[in-house]
Formats: sequence, C-alpha cells, structure tokens
Amino acid sequence: MTLDNPLQIDEIIHGRWIITINAQRHIHENHAIAIDQGKIVDIDNSNAIQGRYQAHKVTRLDDHALIPGLINAHTHASMSLMRGLGDDLPLMSWLQDHIWPAESKWVNRDFIRQGTGLAIAEMIRSGTTAFNDMYFFPDVTAAIASTAGLRATVGLIVLDFPSVWANDWQEYIDMGLTVHDQFRSDHLVNTAFAPHAPYSVSNDPLHRVRVLADELEIPIHIHVHETQDEIEQGLQNYGSRPLHRLDEIGLLTPGLLAVHMAHLQDEEIEHFSKTGAHVIHCPQSNMKLASGFCPVQKLIDNSVNVALGTDGAASNNDLDMLAEMQSAAMLGKAVAGDASAVSAETALAMATINGARALGISEVTGSLEIGKAADITAINLNEPETQPLYNPVSQIVYAADRRQVTDVWCNGNRLLQGRILQTLDIDEIKAGTASWQQKISM
Ligand SMILES: [Zn+2]
Repeated sequence: MTLDNPLQIDEIIHGRWIITINAQRHIHENHAIAIDQGKIVDIDNSNAIQGRYQAHKVTRLDDHALIPGLINAHTHASMSLMRGLGDDLPLMSWLQDHIWPAESKWVNRDFIRQGTGLAIAEMIRSGTTAFNDMYFFPDVTAAIASTAGLRATVGLIVLDFPSVWANDWQEYIDMGLTVHDQFRSDHLVNTAFAPHAPYSVSNDPLHRVRVLADELEIPIHIHVHETQDEIEQGLQNYGSRPLHRLDEIGLLTPGLLAVHMAHLQDEEIEHFSKTGAHVIHCPQSNMKLASGFCPVQKLIDNSVNVALGTDGAASNNDLDMLAEMQSAAMLGKAVAGDASAVSAETALAMATINGARALGISEVTGSLEIGKAADITAINLNEPETQPLYNPVSQIVYAADRRQVTDVWCNGNRLLQGRILQTLDIDEIKAGTASWQQKISM
C-alpha cells in the first residue's frame, strides 16, 4: 500500500481522542478509524490513515472523543411510555399499584411499537448502540431496533402469571422460542431468556429455561436480589435466599445476567465469582426505588464481570448511559467508603466491554479494535462544561452531558449526525408518544 495506490473503503472518522477500551486501555490522540463494510479495518494516526485509504466518506471530529458505542445491559424499552407514572414509591407498591395495573390495561403491540421507538430515539441520542431488553412482545422490540439500526438482545420473557403476551409459563416459553426463530438470521438482534425474577417465576419454568438456554446457547437475563423484601419472601416461600435457589436449579453459569444484586453476603459474592455469571448494575433505579446498594467494587475485586444498565425509564427516569456511568462511579465510592473505588475508567468499561461480555457479543462490539463492528459514539468535549481537559475519560464520566453526544454509528451505519437522528422520524415518535400519554392519563 502506498500513497499512489490507496485502498478504497467506506468511511474514515478522524477524532481528537480515540478511547479504545482495548485490553491495554489505549487512548490515542489525533488518530482516525477506517471503516469498511460495517467493520473497523484500521486505527492509526490521522496522516497514516489518510495515506493508506481512500474513503467514500470522511468525517472530521477534531473536538471529539470517539468511544465504543455504549451498551445498556438492562432495559424495559417500551416502559418509556410510563416515564413519570408513579414516582417516589418503593418497588412493590410501584409495581403492584401502578405499573402492573397500567400494563394490564394498556400494553399491546402498538404500545410496544411507540414505546420502543421513543426509547431507541433517546438511547441513540445518548450514545447507546446496543441494549438488553426484557418486556412483552419482544418481537416488536426486535423489529424496531433492527429497523433503527441498533443492536438489541431481546428478552424472551417468562412469568408465572398471565399477561397480554401469554397465559401460562409454557406459553411464555413457546412464544419466546418463536421469537428466537424469527430473528435467528438478523445480525443486529440476539435473544436471551428473561424469566422476570425469582419471586415471579417458579421452579418448573426456571428448570425448563435452563435446559433450553443450554440447547440454544443463549443467555438468561433475570432480576435478582433487588430488594430485602424479595429475599425475605424467598426465605418464606422456598426456604432459601433467591440466589441460592437459582444456584440449586443450575442457573449460575457464564450465561447468567443477574440484574441488581443489591443485597449480597460476602460468601455469596465469593461463590458467584466462581460461577462466571455476570452482574448488571442499575444504580439510578436502585436509588430511586430505594432498593439497596450493589457492592460493585467488592464484586470487581472478586473478578466478577459487572456491566451497567439504566433499567426502564419508569424507574430511572431516563435511558442516559453517561449519567448512569457517573452514578455508578459516585455510588460505588459511597458504598465502598473508598474514593478510589469504581474509577472513571472502570465505569466506562462497565458501560462498554463489560456489557458486551455479559451479552456474549464481545467478539463483535464493546471496544474500538480492528475486526470489530464500527459501533462508535462521538462526544464533543470542546464545550465549557468539559473544559479544561486534563483527562478525556474523567470528563466523559464525571462532567459530560448526553447533549454533547453528536454522532453515533452502529455496524458502520450513521444513526446520529450532528444530533439529528438518521434512521428514526422524531416527529412521528413524538406524535405517537403524545397520543399514548393522552390515553393513559384519561
Ligand atoms: Zn428491570
């Protein structure tokens, strides 16, 4: 390859900083990413890339940090339509008196379509390129994500009680298997079993889920140890703490994504770390519902992979992974009683590569490395809010606001350009949201 004979590729993005989140945590200055057919084919200094390649499109982001697209490892996307419905309540009265009645009254395919569209618009505008969802009608969520060009792992939800999606646990599983088959060949969509929680799913369906997850080689995504009530209920109904019960069923494997884990004993952490299972930490949701505190630094010290999620917008109340990183770093210190706990770099890894590992997609995404998909988020750090700049990672985690996210690519496709959504019609989303608001508030 010489200057006279450059390789033809799709796009070159020049960035002021490239924060790779590779194993060595390299941060490059004045470098560029070369992209072809959705993949990162080269990362080098801007001059070298310019000499080596001829691109159809060249984007210069001289004030920006390029980071791996953020991975929201726990959401209920379409619950965005319930944002602000029943605030300031503990988990069980929030669920039983507000969310579950609203769900049984309103949730249908159109609700999921509009709610997921709203959620995805917000996620892209805050730099997220992949999300792990758990809700009814996962086929609708998957279709919207795929059309919008975002990666999704959709949860094949399982509950003991009937809903609009299924009547009993066998039917939940059958419906889930159909969704799994339907999206088998969609390269942006993955599936995971999503038994809701130990208190809402009994042993028979959990046994069945374990067998099927092994067969299909897909993860299991479940809320665990979210509140002290859940643990007491588990002791009362099953004679053991929920985590212990899941372990007896054989669910603690590298395929398990345990969401929340806000109440853990030291021996539970030690045992959990040996199983290779993952923790999904949702600090803002835990704080808003006063559920408890996940001992993140202790888990990390025990080599547990901890990823980050927002939870649904009804308990957060946004899907902002930049804010979630800041909360994780701050709360992690408060809980550990140690200012060096959950560093900015750790929080950024939790929101990127750790999420990809938990979801089993770290070969594809989660870091900016040659051979991986071009899932990239650009953040303009040349704003007064992030100046002066001594350390770009510190600015991103502790000072930046999601409105500084200007451009987003997923699989090489531009989803956000200069803060304008490229694959979604924002006016249509706002109109659909307004019409649902009117219905729900009547
Ligand atoms: Zn949740």
